[in-house]
Formats: sequence, structure tokens, C-alpha cells
Amino acid sequence: MGSATVICTDKTGTLTRNELRVENVFWQSVSYPCEEWCNKANAADGKILFLCAIRQAHALDTGENSMPAAGDPLERVLVGYARQFDEILPMAQRLAEIPFDDSRRRQSVIVNIKNDIWLLCKGAPEVITGLCDSSVHDDGKIGPFEKIGPAIAEQAGRYAESGAKVLGYACRKIDEAELIAVTSADAKVIDDRFVNPAEIEKNLAFLGLVTLADPLRDEVPAAVDKCRSAGLRVIMITGDHPETARYVACRSGIFSNERARMVTGAELEHWSDTQLQLALSLDEIGFARVHAIQKLRIVRALQQKKEIVAVTGDGVNDAPALHGAHIGIAMGLCGTEVARESADVVLLDDNFASIVEGIREGRGIFRNIQNFMTYILSSNVPEAIPLVLYALLPIPLPMSIPQILAIDLGTDLVPAIGLGSEPARPFSEQGAGRKTHRHILTSGLLLKAFLWLGAWQTAAAMSLFFATLYIDGWNWGEPVEAGSLMARRASTAAFISVICMQAANVFVCRDQRALIGRKAAANKIILSGVVIEILLIPVFVYVPVFRDMLGTAPVPPELILPISGFIFSFLICEKIRRAIKEKFCPSTSHESS
Ligand code: ADP
Ligand code: MG
Repeated sequence: MGSATVICTDKTGTLTRNELRVENVFWQSVSYPCEEWCNKANAADGKILFLCAIRQAHALDTGENSMPAAGDPLERVLVGYARQFDEILPMAQRLAEIPFDDSRRRQSVIVNIKNDIWLLCKGAPEVITGLCDSSVHDDGKIGPFEKIGPAIAEQAGRYAESGAKVLGYACRKIDEAELIAVTSADAKVIDDRFVNPAEIEKNLAFLGLVTLADPLRDEVPAAVDKCRSAGLRVIMITGDHPETARYVACRSGIFSNERARMVTGAELEHWSDTQLQLALSLDEIGFARVHAIQKLRIVRALQQKKEIVAVTGDGVNDAPALHGAHIGIAMGLCGTEVARESADVVLLDDNFASIVEGIREGRGIFRNIQNFMTYILSSNVPEAIPLVLYALLPIPLPMSIPQILAIDLGTDLVPAIGLGSEPARPFSEQGAGRKTHRHILTSGLLLKAFLWLGAWQTAAAMSLFFATLYIDGWNWGEPVEAGSLMARRASTAAFISVICMQAANVFVCRDQRALIGRKAAANKIILSGVVIEILLIPVFVYVPVFRDMLGTAPVPPELILPISGFIFSFLICEKIRRAIKEKFCPSTSHESS
């Protein structure tokens, strides 16, 4: 997740709370607040039919009298709204259902109401009106459709502009013969492999529109803002109305401009891949009324632009996009099992802000592993180079194998764990995301560890080694007996300098600008690691067991001066290196190389 550069996000549930509330009802070309629309005492037949449609057109698993606890929140809210009119609604018996699917954008049921068989259909307004050739009047009679068609579309657009989700309802009385033709056997769900839904959902009579408000999640604008500061693009891909999508995109900050491009699925269908690529180069773009399969196309196009794409999805149809993206994120609360199985990550709270937090954490973990590796690798240089020099030059062994092990398995341990446990930095300090998959071990990291940090440590270790030898009266080329006091003192000097340099190095390897001061000391594990490291030095040198095991001996006390000098110059030079890097390649100054 840390490598994501683009998040393609759903709208419903991810950006919005999915806490829907019925707001308005559009009936006989007039928009009413939902509470005022229907009076139980004198509801006309047309209204009762509309209410029956709202009450019955759903896929909720319900014994008719209890409200189901699970299922599509949209349907639960609509059914919940209609249930308050139960006392004036006729009994209805469900015969069959044609399920919702995002390519049809509608769902129908076939019910028996007072021995009449009705097809009740709900879905996206433009889909429903496209199937209508008549409309239901207040008195329940059927009238012409042409006159009211444009008014419905206009009203649906107005509702969408205010951010509402809009659903249209329509119905048709069907005869027994037709029912038998479509509901062969006892199938409760009409399978589109055997029956073409378009054969049944036709010549409908329009009933009305219902709008639902779905408030934005409070934490989303801040999360979108974080993405912007981290160079992470957010693209909304929704099946909802373009104006509803635009409203949410503007409110959440995904669009900074009302006029940003919102592409519809119908447009996208006619676009070539090049056109899509060009559109995706726009700073702000969104996609509305798209099918799940078009989602995959958008993901692929982004991948061709070398973006690392995270995509969210909840439906069965989202599986290809979830599978095709670098990071498929399924919804844990509202998602389908199929979506969860195709995804790499399951989002437990369906919340966009959690995705952003996950990406921040991911980037932090990646950096921690890199910093940890840099730290561990840099001490390998002063351990290896002296052995090479020992093989090539007439000098005593600068560091014994037990001493090397004492560093690798002893003193380095706690500081390294500290580096691995650093909290992730805020997005604004993390810099832009990586354009392509990058390995943890980069050439930059290796160069820094070996040729810079490691070189400093080697210089310190070898300088103190030779200084101790000369203090003890050694001359170049003279043999030094292995295990003699002179050899032990010199190797102890090298050993101690590596430990001290690593104590300074851990602050250099941290993901922080500050090398000294309060900020540098914020990580308690690192701090205790350094304290332990320093306390271990007298233990290694003066406690007989360790002295024998490691081959150490007390070193001249005046060596404290050159060691401090090395640490000081090391930190100063690192500061200068960082300043130069920031000046000449600021874009990579967030990275460890
Ligand atoms: P979103 O991207 O908001 O999750 P969906 O792909 O779930 O959108 O839905 C797309 C459109 O299909 C909705 O705007 C709505 O008009 C319609 N729709 C959604 N759910 C249902 C349903 N259960 N029954 C009928 N129509 C639905
Ligand atoms: Mg959906």
C-alpha cells in the first residue's frame, strides 16, 4: 500500500457514510419532502401503488413482517420508509425477483397484489424512464408518458446536483401467461441466463422518484487533503449520477473546481485508449455511471502511465478491477464475498480515510525497513575492510571474529529494532509516491551504507587502531604477536570506535532531519539502545569473562578525544551532505539514497 500513487475510490460508503435517509418524493411532477407527501387517511390508488413498489422492490432477505438486519443499506432504508404505510397497503405476495446488477442499474420484483400480477421495478432514473411508455396517475389510472418525460429528467438532475442519490420506480401489470413464461419452475430469482430481463422490464408505467441523502464522512476532506500534500491522486469512480458524483467530489476536495471533468460511462464507451490516457493526464477527473468492467479499463490505463493503482470495490462485478489493480481494496462491511476474495486488502470500516492512513503506514514501514537495512549494512564495512587489510598488509588483525559478532548480534540489536519501530511520518513530509515498484535495497541505499556511512566507520576504526599501536611503540611492518597486550589494545580501540560510530549512525539512519536534540531523541527504543551500547563498552573491556571471550584490553583513555572528533565530524559532514542533496536534487531528498 505504501507504494500507491493513485487511489481509485468508490463513492457510496467509502467517501459517504452510507447512512441513507429518504428525503424527497417526486410524484405527479411535484417534489415533496418525504414526510408530507402521503397522508394515510386519504391516499389515492396511484400513491398506494407507488408505496407498494417502494415496499416490495428489494432483494432483502425478509420474512415479510420483520425488518432485516443485513442487506443493501439503500434498500433497507427505502423499505423502512414504506413500512410506515403498511396499514394502508394491500397484502402482496412475492413471486419472483430480477436481481440488481450494476450493468442494468435496476432491480425488479414480480408480486401478486390482490390477485393482480405486477412487475415493480426500481433503478437509476434515466434507466427507468427509458423503459417507460406511460405513467401512473394519482387515481391509479394509466396516462401518457411523453409529456412528463423531460420534467423527470430535469428534476432528477436537480436532485443529483444537491448530492442526493435518486431512484426511479415504475410498474406494469403482467398477465398469467407471461408470468408462467418467465418464472419457469419455482425459481424465486429469475436467472438472466434463461430469461432476458429486457423481455419483461418493458412498456412500464412511471410511478415517481425517491431521493436519499447520504452525508459525506467527516474525516474524508482531511484525508483527501493529506493525499494532495503527499502527491497521491484520488479519482472517484462511481455507478451513481454524474451530478451526485460531482457534488461529493467537490465537497470532499477531490475536485477543487466545480467545472472539473466528470466523464460518464456512456462517453467512455466511445473513447479510444489514447483519449482515455489524455483524459487521465488531467489534474482532476472523475468517472460516473460507469460499469465495473470500465473500472478495470481505467485501472489498466493508469497502470500504463506507470502509476501504482489502489482501487476500491464492493460488488461482484468489481472483482476484475480489484484483481487487476496493484492494490485491490474490498469493503469489509458492505462488500460481497467475491470482492473480498479478489482483493489484496479488506477495509474493515469501508472508510476512505483508513485507506489513506494505510498508505501512510505502508510508506512508513517501507522506510523503516530501508533505514534498518542501511544501519545494519553500514557496520559491515568496518568489520570487513580490516580483515582484507590484514590479509594484504603486514599489520595485526584489527578486529577479531568474536568482536564482530558482539557488534552484529549484540550492540547493533536494540538500535536496529528501534529503527524498525519508528512511527510513520506525516504525509506532508513523506514526499511524492514512487512511480514504479521499487525494491527495498536500492543502489542508492547500498552506496550510502557502504561508501558513505561505512567508510566513515572504517576510517574511525582504522585510525584508532593504528593510533593505539603507535602509542604502544609499534613501527610499520613489525610483527605483533597475536593475543599480545599490544594486539588486544589496538583491536579493542577499533572495536570501540565501531560501537561509538554506530551509536551516532543510528540517528543518521533515522527518518528525521534532526540529528541531535529533542526530536532526535524522540524514539525511546533507539535511545535506550544507544545507552545500552555505550554501557556495554566497559563491560566488554573490564569484565573478565567478556575480556577473555572477545580478546579485549583497556585502551589508552586519551582515545576518547579522537573518537569524539570522528563522531562530531561525521555528523557535521552528514548535515552538509543533506544540505547539498536538498539543494541539487530536492525531489529525492525524502528518500534514503
Ligand atoms: P455507487 O458507485 O454509488 O456504489 P452503484 O454502482 O452501487 O453506485 O449503483 C449505481 C446506480 O444503480 C445507483 O445510482 C442507483 O441509481 C442504482 N442502484 C443502486 N443500487 C440499486 C438497487 N439495489 N436497486 C436498484 N437500483 C440500484
Ligand atoms: Mg455500490
